[in-house]
Amino acid sequence: MRLIIASNNAHKLEEIRAIPGEHFGEILSMREAGIEHETVEDGTTFLQNAEKKAREIAAISGCCALADDSGLCVDALDGAPGIFSARFAGVHGDDEANNDLLLAKLQNTENRGAHYSCAMALVYPDGRLVTAEGELYGEIGRERHGSNGFGYDPLFYLPDRGCTTAELSPDEKNAISHRAIALHNLVAKLKESKS
Ligand code: IMP
Repeated sequence: MRLIIASNNAHKLEEIRAIPGEHFGEILSMREAGIEHETVEDGTTFLQNAEKKAREIAAISGCCALADDSGLCVDALDGAPGIFSARFAGVHGDDEANNDLLLAKLQNTENRGAHYSCAMALVYPDGRLVTAEGELYGEIGRERHGSNGFGYDPLFYLPDRGCTTAELSPDEKNAISHRAIALHNLVAKLKESKS
């Protein structure tokens, strides 16, 4: 069965292609499948947005579709920026401005707890849905460290490792990320449903 990943993001594609081949005969990005489509992400949760993306791509392609939605949830901000992580400071994908705003909002608080969250939704052509989630817990630092990764990684500090996620190599981050955990949980569910 053919699986289309509802993304053209190279980081995500690489991680998701690690799905064991026994589940899908062929794994393609949207570009590889010749699909050009932008989902309006108007859900109120990561899961709703992921499901909407996957359902649209499954309907367009007639294949299985896998989509994810992710973001940063900060304790002192009651879970914000959450589903608005990419455009926290106003402009979609402006990582510098997003990180500046995050530092400003947390300037006067000692409560630095935060987590990354990822929801994945797999939709079959017949409409069947399988979902999974993953979280990575850490703290928001007071200054940027590291140049790997993207988004909030230079501020996302992992106390047990003594570094930010921007200081991890891509392989190190891929091994522990919220996306990796969500994917692992999804694959576990697929295995369960096969047995
Ligand atoms: P999306 O899942 O691509 O829509 O990601 C939404 C936003 O969440 C990104 O633009 C980043 O700001 C943030 N984000 C999600 N995952 C990560 C991560 O692994 N590192 C840093 N930022 C992330």
